[in-house]
Amino acid sequence: MKIWRKYQDYLFNGEWHIHTNFTDGTGSIAEYSEKAVELGIPLLAFTEHVRKELNYDFRQFLNEINIARRNFPSLIILSGCEAKVLPDGKLNCPSHILEKVDYKLFAFHSFPVNIEKYILSIKNVINNYDIDTWAHPGLFLKKNPNLTMPENELNNIFKIMSLNKISLEINLKYNLPQIDWIKKYKSISQDGLLIFGGDIHSIEDLYISWQIKQNLQKKWNNLNTKERDSQLFEVWFIENYPNSVKIMKTNPDYQY
Ligand SMILES: [Zn+2]
Ligand SMILES: [Zn+2]
Repeated sequence: MKIWRKYQDYLFNGEWHIHTNFTDGTGSIAEYSEKAVELGIPLLAFTEHVRKELNYDFRQFLNEINIARRNFPSLIILSGCEAKVLPDGKLNCPSHILEKVDYKLFAFHSFPVNIEKYILSIKNVINNYDIDTWAHPGLFLKKNPNLTMPENELNNIFKIMSLNKISLEINLKYNLPQIDWIKKYKSISQDGLLIFGGDIHSIEDLYISWQIKQNLQKKWNNLNTKERDSQLFEVWFIENYPNSVKIMKTNPDYQY
């Protein structure tokens, strides 16, 4: 069983996608942990960028996570990584890291503008790697609006993900995936998990992502039972959430 599945109760309340000052984030592991305890966030997953030739010491990263676990015993802290998919369908990540961390994201960043290559690469990753979640799913298509994912291919991808227990990330930085993807994934995969990731790069991001979720949780709690029963929380959430972390930064009600 995947380690993080023990913490399924926190798929919404936990923060499942964080970058630190080891790469392009500004907060340190200790700073994020302290803030999470202060806000009441129950779980943090540090999903740091990785590549085959790392320019930081991954042992040091794991070491800081262990120290934070000792210093903040009430907080669940998971180690993790965000591995980029290469044009040949392989992950740009040393295998010892994939074996070691608690929670593994795969993602497309720079990638050739070629839909066949994209589909083949997704299939290769979800079939051949012990990976947990597809991060910001569909970002590549959003950046390349002239490309279309054929319906049957998306169905196949979601079926494989479901079989291999790979979850879909609801990414609060990019407002992804689109709602029909979420509905499709839920209809294909009976226990298809949706995980909320803020794609956090700063303490401010952590704060804003938490505010967005808290406000929506409040709205949800105010619905009557009949309304709540008639819709999936995740779909309702996506349809109702105000905007991405990036945009909410400019809203005075959300200012950190
Ligand atoms: Zn990413
Ligand atoms: Zn990321």
